[in-house]
Amino acid sequence: MNLPSPLPAQTLGLACRVCGAMALPVRRGRALDLDIEYFECPECRYVQTETPYWLGRAYGSAINDSDTGIIARNLANARIVLGTLWLLDALDSTVVDYAGGYGVLVRLLRDDGIDALWSDAFCENLLARGFEHAGQPGGLVTAFEAFEHFVDPSAELEKMLAVAPNVLLSTLLIPSPVPADWWYYGAEHGQHVGLYRAATLELLARRHGKVLVTDGASYHLITDRPVSRMRWRLLLRANRLAAFWTRRRLTSKTWSDHLAASPGAVDRG
Ligand SMILES: [Zn+2]
Repeated sequence: MNLPSPLPAQTLGLACRVCGAMALPVRRGRALDLDIEYFECPECRYVQTETPYWLGRAYGSAINDSDTGIIARNLANARIVLGTLWLLDALDSTVVDYAGGYGVLVRLLRDDGIDALWSDAFCENLLARGFEHAGQPGGLVTAFEAFEHFVDPSAELEKMLAVAPNVLLSTLLIPSPVPADWWYYGAEHGQHVGLYRAATLELLARRHGKVLVTDGASYHLITDRPVSRMRWRLLLRANRLAAFWTRRRLTSKTWSDHLAASPGAVDRG
């Protein structure tokens, strides 16, 4: 395999991987044990690493060992998906979790009664086998903590929008000006190769004929539905009420999935 090589010192600019404008060097940092350069796009404000030639090493394990928040985040994300479906009046539609990792979110959503499937080219799914996305149309694609990993965000978004008209994503927006140090650069795993501003996500949404609704921090919805920013923020803040809003309209799939996965199992009736 031909891997791109490190940049020569004093590179003046690099094409923005979101909009193609000339991005300018803004910070030097680390990825694994490497010294790397970051570039900021003056047009869409995206902040990207130099061409990430280290990803083969960075993905030795798809889920990085320092991710101690994985379970707490999935519990919160499941509530936020429920709330989003309720807001979009789409509780009965299929949710496809893009880059679904171990399958934690899909299992939680199915327990809540959502027809959730997963799709992940890189990670072995442990908890939601049998619920792979096989091309069926969905109502919502979720992409939690995925966009900052994408080398070509526009192409990835296009794939998601081919599955469903709405995309719920989380990625922490990078402060302005670009901070010298920030935990979300992820130097220890080297997997965060692109960091977003609201303007970047707005451009991506607009390019696909959609609008962006954002909390201005980490949760963003790309949609063609008129969702007010105020309602979006309220929903995120009150996400612990999601089960209360939705329980009358949903039936848990925990038991029916068990029966489907256990030939010969007897329904407890
Ligand atoms: Zn750009």
